[in-house]
Amino acid sequence: MRARFIQTFSPFRSLRARFAVAMGIFGITLGMVMTGLIEWRLEEGLSASARDSLQSTAGEIAHTLSDSLETRQHEVALIGSLVGASQIKDFIALQEVLDSLKQRQPTYAWIGLSSPDGVVFAATDGLLKGVNVSERPWFIQGAQGPFLGDPHDAKLLAKYLKPGADGSLSRFLDVAIPVRNNSGRTIGVLGAHLYWDWVHEVVLSSLAHRVQKTPVEVLIANQRGDWLLSPHTETSKNLTEWRQTVDDDRFLSVVQTTSTPTSPSDLKWTVVVREKTTDALSPIDENRRLMLLLTALLGTAFGVGTWQIAGRVVRPIVDLADAAKNHASFSGHGTDLAEAKLHDETMLVGQALERLARFDPLTGLVNRRVLKERLAGAMRAKASSQGSSAVLLVNMDNFSVLNNTQGHEVGDQLLQAVAQRLLPLVRANDTLARVGGDEFVFVMTGLDPSPVVAMHEASAFASTVSQSFKAPFELAHGPCQCDASIGMTMLQANADGKVDDVLKQVELAVLEAKQSGKNQTVVYDQQMQERLLAQVAFEQALRDAVPDQLQVYYQAQVDAQAQVTGAELLVRWQHPTHGMVSPAKFIPVAEQNGLIVTIGYWMLSSACRQIKSWQTDPIKCQWVLSVNVSAKELGQPDYVETVKEILAGTGANPQRLKLELTESTLASDMQGVVAKMHQLKALGVRFALDDFGTGFSSLSYLQQMPIDQLKIDQSFVRDLGVKGSDTSIVRTVIALGQSLGLSVIAEGVETAAQRDLLAQLGCHHYQGYFYGKPAPLETFVQGLA
Ligand code: C2E
Ligand code: MG
Ligand code: MG
Repeated sequence: MRARFIQTFSPFRSLRARFAVAMGIFGITLGMVMTGLIEWRLEEGLSASARDSLQSTAGEIAHTLSDSLETRQHEVALIGSLVGASQIKDFIALQEVLDSLKQRQPTYAWIGLSSPDGVVFAATDGLLKGVNVSERPWFIQGAQGPFLGDPHDAKLLAKYLKPGADGSLSRFLDVAIPVRNNSGRTIGVLGAHLYWDWVHEVVLSSLAHRVQKTPVEVLIANQRGDWLLSPHTETSKNLTEWRQTVDDDRFLSVVQTTSTPTSPSDLKWTVVVREKTTDALSPIDENRRLMLLLTALLGTAFGVGTWQIAGRVVRPIVDLADAAKNHASFSGHGTDLAEAKLHDETMLVGQALERLARFDPLTGLVNRRVLKERLAGAMRAKASSQGSSAVLLVNMDNFSVLNNTQGHEVGDQLLQAVAQRLLPLVRANDTLARVGGDEFVFVMTGLDPSPVVAMHEASAFASTVSQSFKAPFELAHGPCQCDASIGMTMLQANADGKVDDVLKQVELAVLEAKQSGKNQTVVYDQQMQERLLAQVAFEQALRDAVPDQLQVYYQAQVDAQAQVTGAELLVRWQHPTHGMVSPAKFIPVAEQNGLIVTIGYWMLSSACRQIKSWQTDPIKCQWVLSVNVSAKELGQPDYVETVKEILAGTGANPQRLKLELTESTLASDMQGVVAKMHQLKALGVRFALDDFGTGFSSLSYLQQMPIDQLKIDQSFVRDLGVKGSDTSIVRTVIALGQSLGLSVIAEGVETAAQRDLLAQLGCHHYQGYFYGKPAPLETFVQGLA
């Protein structure tokens, strides 16, 4: 249940879904990579611009601090030099000057002049007047030279100033300068306290100028590195410690040192401005959200787009897969692919191709390829002495006749029925393959190691196979009888051989079985090879012989009065070394390799030329010349045209030409042959049915064909009067001929007794040694004279 659910909804169940998912993932990956790249570039740019902004803020703070303090220092120095130069004795007036300065510049908390021994004698608002400040650092340092001090909490002035809302004391920054008279003697120290809050203002106003509005923090350290200003969250105690522990991932920080080049005393403060990295890079987060949205859209678009396109692209594959599912080879035999774990069309097609490559679609048996693999395995097993093996090639007898007469559908049914009958005979570990039209191969392994016993086992199996053909096969249209010829070979006889050699051996053995009358088992032996080679050599010699070494022999055909009515043309092969070769020997070979077509053409041309040359002879112009025509010749699509051409080319009278067909000619493609006969008949050509009585002609055939003559086979004539059965066959043939209005001729008439008996039975045309043996034209003509 669960598995079925997964199969149904798995994105991998179909090629189309797989494509879509793959492209969706591709789209997402592409989006992620683009996001990464953009972030990388953005981070670099944002960091740089944030750093620039911080740097400019730090610079501005440092500059403003330096500038302001320098100005304050100058102011204090100016008043100091004024006091020194004018020897101001009027402290009231001096206080007024200091008050006005303080009012003009609210940074000042207090300005005061003290005597060289540290007693304040003039001060803003009169504060600390008369108070001894000799212990204060500003006085001590200021007496030595220009002084600029670090911030400190209010001490002496504390009681005059209001504390902050939080109760904190005012913090001051001290500026002091020695006051010297014209002669350079120190007459006092002028000191000023600047409100430390002023630094906060400088910082705030600098921050207000920032273009970026992200929050930043400012830290200020004095020359020693101690923090003068730092956020309460800062844990480092001083600049040095901060430098050691600074966290670059958390903060983007810039450092700027103040410098007052024109001032005699330099502050050397360090301004640190920093911004949280997350704040500085916050646009990246926004961008990321956008990009992720885009990525999701991209993935979806790719997936949906591919789903649409793939629908068309993979359609042929899906169709192929459906066809593969329905293929006959997927049900009934072996694995059923439709039910197997195949939900992907490519896998299905792949398996289908695999099956097609290894199995015969009609019978479901393994094919030649697999057979070769198994055979190779059996041969290896033989080499490592794991028992003997045997190979049997089963070739159905006359299958092509059934195929041609009953149709291929019936042929297919028979093959399937044969496969079904052979399958149960297969022993464990053996193989049954279909290797050709009507050929099946058994590979038997694990037979007895003794060659004699193994041969006995294999022969017994061959006879079981042979027996299995005895019962008729039940086909759709009814029962069908069929025999088989079997070729067998034992693997121990050729342990080192190749697979193809073994197959050739069984083919040879089958050939031998066919040639010796079919429906039997022949075991391969080495002489077969030699016989085959001899056959091949014979065939080659025949090829070389046609038509130069061929001769035409004539045998007379006579009527009841022994008057010649014509002759049968019989081919002869005058071999340069072997002498005269009988047509009975070479015609079957020529029929097999197709040479018969050339021979037939040559014979027909000879006959027509001869007819033409006798045209003016008052007697011979009446003679009819018979030419034997084989099935192969008649099967040629252009046979009718060829005959017409020869007739036209030689100018022979078609009425004087008779074509002798055997019943076997009719076995294949009856309809086609009958049609051709009618076309030739229309020209005037006659037909005789040769060797009549030996084949399987039925009356219905005879009625359809434009036959002129039946030729009683010489085998019946030979035993005429001796064998009762032959006499009755001859009588029947004659009666048949008469009833169909055909003339009847007997061949192989050797004696007067035979002739008399035939005449008595009603046959009045004869051919045979009694009238003349086949002979070359001159001998034939002379013999008649
Ligand atoms: P077939 O057409 O039945 O020819 C008759 C055969 O009987 C001939 O044998 C002939 O010599 C032989 N014969 C005739 N009278 C007698 C007789 O009184 N006694 C005996 N014992 N035999 C007699 P042949 O010439 O050896 O030809 C054998 C077969 O070869 C022919 O049988 C025919 O089927 C085939 N053949 C011969 N020439 C040709 C040809 O040009 N084309 C084709 N397709 N087949 C041919
Ligand atoms: Mg003949
Ligand atoms: Mg004959």
